[in-house]
Amino acid sequence: MQKRIQKKEYKHLYFDLDQTLWDFQASSRKTLTDLCIEFFHQQIPEPEKFLEVYYPINDSLWVKYRKGELNKATLRIKRFQDSLGYFGIYENGVIELFCQKYIEQAPRQTITIPGAHDILEYLKAKGYKMYLLTNGFKEIQEIKIETNNFSQYFEKMITSEDAGVQKPNRKIFEYALKLVNARKNESIMIGDDINTDILGAKQFGMDCVYFNPLRRVHEIKPTYDIAFLSDLKMFL
Ligand SMILES: [Mg+2]
Repeated sequence: MQKRIQKKEYKHLYFDLDQTLWDFQASSRKTLTDLCIEFFHQQIPEPEKFLEVYYPINDSLWVKYRKGELNKATLRIKRFQDSLGYFGIYENGVIELFCQKYIEQAPRQTITIPGAHDILEYLKAKGYKMYLLTNGFKEIQEIKIETNNFSQYFEKMITSEDAGVQKPNRKIFEYALKLVNARKNESIMIGDDINTDILGAKQFGMDCVYFNPLRRVHEIKPTYDIAFLSDLKMFL
């Protein structure tokens, strides 16, 4: 862990949600596996194979969505049309139902990142003001925080839909600070994505904690680089 020589007095903590506090990957995999078994046990006897096809397609469609080349509705259905099409499944009604069930069920999974509740309780008890700052869809993120009892810790959730731009755009950070009258030098961003969370915060001029459990090597120097959420206690 890299540590600054001078300890700052932070007051406002901005947390990313997916893969920082809530285990998006595990939740998504579990939901898709269950749905494959429910819907397509004959056409796709090994759900693992579907996951191998689905995720690269989903990732590339998200890239297009972020560039503004796709809208939300198209992104949501097309990732399933394309990946299920690979297995010879083309019936639109079934694909739509599969998509709808995925959107309903995935955010209701209760798989959190180890130590998430402990650290949030600790930080809340210490009097920090905490906010969620996420690029996810508002209605989906709301389900996750309610189902997982996260709302008790946070003053507010700020989504890219509210701000009109996504992380790493500096405008979302500007918006998030202005909304709660937070000063930049009293605020810190905590997130798992080196580009959206960390580079975004750095370019805006705000301190940042890279939650890096896989110990990824990178060129960007965050204020702190931690392997476990409990490491936040070393400076907060
Ligand atoms: Mg994330």
